[in-house]
Amino acid sequence: LDGIGPVILSGVELAGRIRSRLASEIASTGGRPPGLAVVMVGDDPASSVYVSSKEKACARIGMAGSVLRLRGDSTQEEALAAVRALNEDPAVDGILCQLPLPAHISPSAVSSAIDPSKDVDGLHPENVGRLWRGEEGLFPCTPLGIMALLGEYRIGIEGVRVVVIGRSDIVGKPIAAMMLHANATVTLAHSHTRELQNLCREADVLVAAVGRPGMITREFLKQGSVVIDVGISRTSDGLRGDVDFGSASHVCSAVTPVPGGVGPLTIALLLSNTVKAWRKHLA
Ligand code: NAD
Repeated sequence: LDGIGPVILSGVELAGRIRSRLASEIASTGGRPPGLAVVMVGDDPASSVYVSSKEKACARIGMAGSVLRLRGDSTQEEALAAVRALNEDPAVDGILCQLPLPAHISPSAVSSAIDPSKDVDGLHPENVGRLWRGEEGLFPCTPLGIMALLGEYRIGIEGVRVVVIGRSDIVGKPIAAMMLHANATVTLAHSHTRELQNLCREADVLVAAVGRPGMITREFLKQGSVVIDVGISRTSDGLRGDVDFGSASHVCSAVTPVPGGVGPLTIALLLSNTVKAWRKHLA
């Protein structure tokens, strides 16, 4: 395989196509545009960057994006009151709370306060339950993006062995549920997993969502496997994924780049979730 290399699973073009499909749906429906409200508590610089890129992404497709900025010393009750006000606002279809929150505010209290029909991050217990039961609902954007990317490249999941490293509520657990519903055999690995390398070497599809740059080298990979790199770490060399691309590319058959792989799809699927909520609210 040396000299040929793996297929690069690019999320950029698919994300662009999703956004233009959404833009034309919004333009042709007319009337009230979909509204996305982002709640941000405090002024974490990385969060500010994410929040303003979400605002810009909304504007580009004709969606009404707004950011509700609360002071870092706001109480949990104030944050919950802000969410409840957005629940009542008929111009708002999607609500998300930018993480991380200050330590004195419980992320699960906030996500549980969001109206499940506006819960575009898919973190409300009702949507989590719907996902695991295989019912309709709003589900986390990064895993939705991964499933869309696999579909785009016609990578079949049925019957294959998937190992997911990382068990967060926003990536690891929901991608495991989605893979399971797509009939994969799924193993969820995490920081307490023993013999991680051996386990990963059995995977036809490996999803790395850890946040340790370059952790996944060729020793973790089965020959010909598909590698989905969710990790994003800021290093002195710029943004890096969990996968050591140079090493992995000797062994895998396909891999997502960082940046330009899963990342762009996350925002596209956030917009898509908001449009989905909007359609339901209009109906
Ligand atoms: P997290 O940061 O909440 O948790 C990390 C997970 O990795 C935990 O479940 C932990 O058990 C596991 N872990 C830590 N060290 C490990 C080790 N040595 N071996 C095996 N497992 C280990 O998880 P998260 O919020 O899902 O974020 C993971 C990474 O994905 C981060 O780099 C984050 O920036 C990135 N991320 C990217 C996107 C995107 O759009 N591409 C979206 C969300 C998160």
